[in-house]
Amino acid sequence: MQIVKDYGPITGESIAEKLNLTRATLRPDLAILTMAGYLEARPRVGYFYTGKTGKQLFADKMKKMKVEDYQSIPVVVNENVSVYDAIVTMFLEDVGTLFVVDDESLLVGVLSRKDLLRASLGKQELTAIPVNIIMTRMPNIAVCYKDDPLIDVAEQLIEKQIDAMPVVRKTEKGYEVIGRITKTNITKAFVSLAKED
Ligand code: ADP
Repeated sequence: MQIVKDYGPITGESIAEKLNLTRATLRPDLAILTMAGYLEARPRVGYFYTGKTGKQLFADKMKKMKVEDYQSIPVVVNENVSVYDAIVTMFLEDVGTLFVVDDESLLVGVLSRKDLLRASLGKQELTAIPVNIIMTRMPNIAVCYKDDPLIDVAEQLIEKQIDAMPVVRKTEKGYEVIGRITKTNITKAFVSLAKED
């Protein structure tokens, strides 16, 4: 690193010479430093120091994480199902957020655990209330796309104080739900970053 900082751009051959090593001995080390982002290699020019600190490289790596690499399968219910059935689905599917769709499978709402708890507080017959009465509805749903950086979704979850966001595909008619990002996905991504390093 010091040699590259002092003399870069410098060829692998020249670095090896300065260290009294063969180019072949050095190759794996240079590959690691290049992959990690500390050095950059340009063909016919050589290695140069990127000037990035470990922290910056870590942030770069985090920003490169995409929604589609961490999303889970979404659990959806039709807007006409009862609050009772939505509660059963939430238990059976073991999720904390349900996405609500219309007959054309387009996103119309979101149901959280507390939405369902709130609806259960009164004396209403839960089998008789459709979820579209109690759900948070479009256009107030925060959505994300598969190519979005995961960190942007994480920021929105914090900002909007919600646990999950549907991953959607936009069509002329509306949003199709293709995935789900929850705080659990973000936690898993966070752990995977640490393991990688
Ligand atoms: P809980 O209510 O169980 O704590 P959340 O914090 O996720 O779960 O939900 C808080 C409120 O925000 C609920 O009323 C829910 O319907 C709504 N909500 C959840 N996810 C979204 C979303 N992606 N966009 C808009 N509103 C949402």
